[in-house]
Amino acid sequence: MAKVIDGKAIAAAVRAEVRAKVEALAAARGVVPGLHVLLVGDDPGSAVYVRNKEKACAEVGVRTVTHRLPADTAEDDVLAIVRRLNADPDVDGILVQLPLPRHMSADRVTDAVDPAKDVDGFHPANLGLLVAGRGRLRPCTPAGVMRLLDEAGVELAGRRAVVVGRSLIVGKPVAFLLLERHATVTVCHSRTRDLAAEVGRADVLVVAIGRPEAVRGEWIKPGAVVIDVGMNRLPDGRLAGDVEYAAAASRASAITPVPGGVGPMTIACLLRNTLSAACARRGLPDPWEA
Ligand code: NDP
Repeated sequence: MAKVIDGKAIAAAVRAEVRAKVEALAAARGVVPGLHVLLVGDDPGSAVYVRNKEKACAEVGVRTVTHRLPADTAEDDVLAIVRRLNADPDVDGILVQLPLPRHMSADRVTDAVDPAKDVDGFHPANLGLLVAGRGRLRPCTPAGVMRLLDEAGVELAGRRAVVVGRSLIVGKPVAFLLLERHATVTVCHSRTRDLAAEVGRADVLVVAIGRPEAVRGEWIKPGAVVIDVGMNRLPDGRLAGDVEYAAAASRASAITPVPGGVGPMTIACLLRNTLSAACARRGLPDPWEA
């Protein structure tokens, strides 16, 4: 039976690290990092995520301001707020909560965020640095996946890693982070011919497709490590991952549960990015590298 990788506990440890480093920064420099969140419209999922972010910021001592705007706000008005926050020296991180209402372009809005304050790590400049192996503000969910692998003591160099899903938010950045750590990486997607065979070759499997239990347990190579990023709400209200958990857990050596695996890591890594941005903007060393 697989070891369960406890994302809830690991995320709590990351938050404790951030809190200690935020306190040290405040004591040494009088700086308290500030995160501004733009929430446009009334998507119920987004409202929950933003509340969780506010709570986590309060826990670690990061200042947070949420700009709540009605769904019919013009794109130009959202862009004007982004530019004002870009110019405000007290703002360290800017996060545009997605999805945005359909009448505006998520690309135009996220591209307008100053890359130095892009704590989501979605700006093309930050994604480019990631590809170059110099990413500092790394997308939060992929960064969380890497931390889980590290905490579970998973050796990556030379191992065969398979990433299922190629979104800009999860699949692609995870693939580059695994490559940076010397894994041999295959990226699968909806046009992959024989997904079962690709999955079956993985020593390390990361799945982010958004379809409940689409990856069957019997495909998993015995002893593989499985990271399930999927979060799917079932009709009965339960949350399911993208991997058939029970069957996968009987073959894998380690696996993340859903909920309680990757999910809690995303916000923890957002807090970490906010502190990193606050230090970098002031010419201070990154607290995780110092
Ligand atoms: P997207 O919808 O943006 O991307 C899904 C990817 O999966 C696409 O690349 C798609 O391929 C691929 N795909 C879809 N169906 C299949 C299939 N049957 N076989 C192989 N590949 C397939 O999703 P995200 O990356 O944004 O999210 C993926 C999942 O992760 C969701 O459940 C989401 O809720 C969850 N998530 C969780 C987070 C967390 O904090 N834990 C954060 C972000 C996401 P193609 O490109 O060909 O269309």
